[in-house]
Amino acid sequence: MLEQIVGRLKAAGIKPSMQRIKIYEYFFHHENHPTAEQIYQDLKKEVPTLSKATVYNTIGLFIEKGLVKFTTTDRQNARYDLTDTDHGHFICSVCNEIYDFPYRFSKQYSDLEGFEIQSEEIVIKGICRKCLKKH
Ligand SMILES: [Zn+2]
Ligand SMILES: [Zn+2]
Repeated sequence: MLEQIVGRLKAAGIKPSMQRIKIYEYFFHHENHPTAEQIYQDLKKEVPTLSKATVYNTIGLFIEKGLVKFTTTDRQNARYDLTDTDHGHFICSVCNEIYDFPYRFSKQYSDLEGFEIQSEEIVIKGICRKCLKKH
């Protein structure tokens, strides 16, 4: 796993410092579309030298290099996701949880002929199974 993380960072042209490795690794272990704040809170126990600024800067770098993408804003926080799988998001309006579901983007849309597509996303909003059961 570590080797894979380091390899991907290097392939993206990022110097694999310990903190960058930890932050990138976090995304692989947490499929919860974390906010920068969550990443910081969880990792600082393990990496006491980590600062909030480093987390924000590192996520910015990962986005620039295409490793991580902005997923959605849940009320006030931006949430992030890995870019390595095509999937859609279901956002529950009760618990705010984001669920992934497999989705194939077509990359071709007749009305966008001649446009350059940089990212595609699909967001479905509603109430998740867990929340529906509770009510
Ligand atoms: Zn829910
Ligand atoms: Zn996702």
